[in-house]
Amino acid sequence: MIAALDVLVVGAGVSGISCARTLAGSGRQVLLLDRARGVGGRCATHRLLGMPFDLGVAFLHGQDPDFLAAVRATSSRRVEGWPRIVEGTGRPCQPEAFRPGEQRVALADGVTAFPKHLSEGLPLRTAARVERLDLSGPEPGVVLEGGEALRARHVVLALAGEQVLRLLDGAGELARSVASVRALLDTGTSEPSLSICAAYPAGIAPPAWDAWYPEDSRVLQYLGHESSKRIDPPFVGLVLQAQPAWSRAHLDDPEWPGALLSEAARLAGDWAGRPTATHSHRWRFARTDLASELSGPILVRLPSGGSVGICGDRFAPGGGVEAAWISGRELGRRLAAPEVA
Ligand SMILES: Cc1cc2nc3c(=O)[nH]c(=O)nc-3n(C[C@H](O)[C@H](O)[C@H](O)COP(=O)(O)OP(=O)(O)OC[C@H]3O[C@@H](n4cnc5c(N)ncnc54)[C@H](O)[C@@H]3O)c2cc1C
Repeated sequence: MIAALDVLVVGAGVSGISCARTLAGSGRQVLLLDRARGVGGRCATHRLLGMPFDLGVAFLHGQDPDFLAAVRATSSRRVEGWPRIVEGTGRPCQPEAFRPGEQRVALADGVTAFPKHLSEGLPLRTAARVERLDLSGPEPGVVLEGGEALRARHVVLALAGEQVLRLLDGAGELARSVASVRALLDTGTSEPSLSICAAYPAGIAPPAWDAWYPEDSRVLQYLGHESSKRIDPPFVGLVLQAQPAWSRAHLDDPEWPGALLSEAARLAGDWAGRPTATHSHRWRFARTDLASELSGPILVRLPSGGSVGICGDRFAPGGGVEAAWISGRELGRRLAAPEVA
């Protein structure tokens, strides 16, 4: 049991880190918990044959000056404006990325360099999966896989909406205020994404495009030319992401990686269906459905004192990484206010 903790933040994606950083900057004792081995959540980079591949979000984009400054403070070399050469008129993962005034930045070391930089110096426990929220004591707490209990004056859930619901469902009888938040969250959904990184033999000519959003594919939403973001790439690499509806229908189909590669071959040429190595990943909750977005983070005061806060990409307009960062910062500011702390 950690007695002196002000805030436990569950989830070390961009929203949780942004919240924890704001709180730590106001002198609060925080602890970040994440079930994964590292930070970043859906800002995920996988190394395949030594080259970084952005497996979730492919590049960072936004308009908020503070968010963009935070992105540009990352030590990785930046590729400003990526993707510069865009093929196709299909719907991008996050249509806001191409609205007027939007700035786009890719990171040569991979997008995960951003959350890694943002989390530097923050107290963090990785491989710490929270099984349930515990609202039975005088202070809120969480129970980790294996049974360890942690308590703090405030608990923040910085997760996809469905993951927040799971923790609320395990919390036992909910105070009325928490129950109504649960009902609100239940109204939204996230879109899934089946994604694959593919490395191609040396000598394959790199495609002419950075990103391709095909308008005539039911299977693929996005083909990303990963090696066009890297410094001296050793080979051509692509990331393929499936359409949300196709992903939903094939989440439990073991054949889906092959179907993505076949579709890439149909679109880009035979070479695209014949990688030398691949790595695939199922994102059950990739992006907040546009209709599910809420305008800000949630802070619920508990009858016993303390509070439960909820932030994440669903809790600021526009969705995506910028919304995650903004919602975390806003919740951190509210929790650091004297009347709450
Ligand atoms: C394929 C794909 C494409 C995308 N394209 C774009 C795009 O073009 N533009 C854009 O802006 N955004 C895009 N996004 C969305 C963007 O990545 C997310 O909106 C953003 O990263 C969400 O950050 P977050 O902190 O809210 O959540 P997350 O990054 O999901 O962080 C939540 C963290 O909580 C952890 N966690 C979950 N459950 C538990 C538990 N029980 N116990 C402990 N830890 C737990 C997870 O490991 C994770 O690290 C894309 C995402 C994907 C997957």
